Amino acid sequence: MSTEGIVIIGAGHAGGSAAAFLRQYGYKGPLVLVGSEPLLPYQRPPLSKAWLKGEATAESLALRPAKFYATQNVETRLGITAEAIDRAAHTVRLSDGSTLGYSKLVLALGSRARPLPLAGRDLAGVMELRTAADADQLQAALKPGARLAVVGGGFIGLEVAASAIALGAAATVIEREARVLARVASPPLSAFVQEYHRARGVDVRLATGVEALEGANGRVTGVRLADGELVPCDVALLGVGALANDGLAQAAGLDCANGITVDLAARTSDPDIYAVGDCTNRPLPMYQRMFRLESVPNAIEQAKQAAADITGRAAPMPEIPWFWSDQFDLRLQMAGLPFGATQLVLRGEPGVAGFAVFHLGPDDTVLAVEALNAPADFMAGRVLVTKQKQVAPALLADLSSDMKILAA
Ligand SMILES: Cc1cc2nc3c(=O)[nH]c(=O)nc-3n(C[C@H](O)[C@H](O)[C@H](O)COP(=O)(O)OP(=O)(O)OC[C@H]3O[C@@H](n4cnc5c(N)ncnc54)[C@H](O)[C@@H]3O)c2cc1C
Repeated sequence: MSTEGIVIIGAGHAGGSAAAFLRQYGYKGPLVLVGSEPLLPYQRPPLSKAWLKGEATAESLALRPAKFYATQNVETRLGITAEAIDRAAHTVRLSDGSTLGYSKLVLALGSRARPLPLAGRDLAGVMELRTAADADQLQAALKPGARLAVVGGGFIGLEVAASAIALGAAATVIEREARVLARVASPPLSAFVQEYHRARGVDVRLATGVEALEGANGRVTGVRLADGELVPCDVALLGVGALANDGLAQAAGLDCANGITVDLAARTSDPDIYAVGDCTNRPLPMYQRMFRLESVPNAIEQAKQAAADITGRAAPMPEIPWFWSDQFDLRLQMAGLPFGATQLVLRGEPGVAGFAVFHLGPDDTVLAVEALNAPADFMAGRVLVTKQKQVAPALLADLSSDMKILAA
């Protein structure tokens, strides 16, 4: 068997982007993209937002038009799962019984919904949201008048609750922590978002544990809370985070720790194997630590890193992590991570007209920014974080100070 060529396992955002960057950077050899899902690479963010509300087309979901793969000579093997890697032989065994040889392998395996070991987990109407197939199933269930219960007040749970209200369904969000977005946002942002949801009809339950999912005739009928109350529902969405799909890499003996361990060129502990996207645990040079990111910008950045290294190009400049979320008419944008932050600075009054929260270190270095309907503050904040600039808190808080000048 030939071991010439590049094989990418996982046809999601990172895998699809890696294929495109490899061709863009001049790789002309054989290129095979293997994916478990039956679809060409597509974007997941709309699944909880525009797609769920019926406002996006299949074409707009696609990462690239179908003709791209033919014209760029990317062989796609869809609906097929990679089952094992033989590193010594440089081969991958696939679920259709075939074996692929590689000279370089790129693992773009993504992440999966964190399982919740609740009684009733297998009832019809209990769902997760990771794939387009999940989104179609959820959309079909969210008819006007349907009652949705979301377990988990994270980004995906809140986005789905907002979309459900737009579809005429009722939504309850059940969060274990004392505020929504507790792991990912500051208290002022959480407070604003949860009240905004409540004002639009979402029943937000905080500091609330879940005991079980209850059903009748095999279908979910409610979520039993830890205090004994039953939240009746027709659909229950479990949205309590994600785990890296690193089982294939672990079985092949690659270094893994909460994801496949990679360096800034997306190289794993095997010189011929790269890993990109949600499945990796990667260095964050600015914060001097390893971290697992789940975001589109990260998937694209690491796809570039791997493609550059494979084709012998200069390594791309490291980017700072950033993320966005849309809920109702709110656009949340975040850049940087608040590791080591000791000060929170609010710019503007929390409100739909827009405000920002800056996370500063003890020496006033801007470490992260969260902006809500405040794109200019986000853009300037992102520059401040990238430059690791020190800014006096009073200047950031003062609405009369020009953010562009502060960031210059
Ligand atoms: C509902 C939802 C909303 C989101 N919203 C946002 C947002 O607003 N902003 C943002 O930045 N990010 C968002 N994200 C996260 C973002 O979509 C992910 O970070 C991004 O898709 C990661 O790309 P990836 O290629 O690493 O993983 P994925 O896109 O998940 O792709 C991985 C692919 O690999 C396949 N695969 C896994 N194992 C194998 C195997 N052994 N063989 C073959 N194929 C395999 C999987 O089936 C999957 O298709 C959202 C995610 C979801 C689910």
